[in-house]
Amino acid sequence: MPLYLNFHTHRLTLEGEITLPSFGLHPWHLAEQLQNLPSPNLGKKKTLPSPTLGKKTLPSPSPGKKALPSPSPGKKTLPSPSLVGREWSPIEIEESLYCHIQSAFPQPLGTSRRSTHQEGESEREPGAFWLIGECGLDRLCDTPYPLQLAAFEAQISLSERLHRPLVLHCVRAVDDVLRLHRSTTQPWVWHGFRGKPQQMQQLLQHGFYLSFGFHFNAESLCTCPAERLFLETDDDPRPVADLYATAADLRHTTPATLNQQCWDNLMSMHNV
Ligand SMILES: [Zn+2]
Repeated sequence: MPLYLNFHTHRLTLEGEITLPSFGLHPWHLAEQLQNLPSPNLGKKKTLPSPTLGKKTLPSPSPGKKALPSPSPGKKTLPSPSLVGREWSPIEIEESLYCHIQSAFPQPLGTSRRSTHQEGESEREPGAFWLIGECGLDRLCDTPYPLQLAAFEAQISLSERLHRPLVLHCVRAVDDVLRLHRSTTQPWVWHGFRGKPQQMQQLLQHGFYLSFGFHFNAESLCTCPAERLFLETDDDPRPVADLYATAADLRHTTPATLNQQCWDNLMSMHNV
């Protein structure tokens, strides 16, 4: 049986599961993360900054290896006054992130998963591809909303430019999310989905995938179409296998079948 796919987590990979390298600016941590980003040399020759957001090497999410976790969702931080006063345009953030990604990920960027597929990689080996995120909008956190919007727009643009699906964090900002989603082509995955079936239907109609964590609406998890579903632990320390067992029970299937479906969804999302 393939290892359990843990679609989104902030911890290192546990035995028996696989996590995906991803890269993004979390709305809770924008202030500190932007401070650590290199200044983009817009219009000038690009220099490669040293990686500051993640590990220096690209971890491959193959069995037994550890994946690059997204920024930890721990304590919320207040943006520093200097940051609030500083104007960050989406293009500036995007270029900073792009520079950073170039230095952190060795394989060529701007290509689809298919063209980076290497000989010898197995069907179930995601290889070096990764996701943009988690990123998004959160009206309940302290980060100024305009700054959140700028960073989110930058990451949407990056997701389109690099052909990587986007992992979405959305709290009380669904209108803006749907507005921004309209002109995109990459798949978006609403992570940690806890909404009711009615909201789920709205998101499904817009083409979203939904990733469920331990805090889910049971009716939504039961009725989510299999081909749009992922499971994740996010910041929960429990093994993702526990969640597969619970979800399989609810959906009257087996954990192995559900896991296979999630892998299939991942592959189809990346056009593999
Ligand atoms: Zn998260």
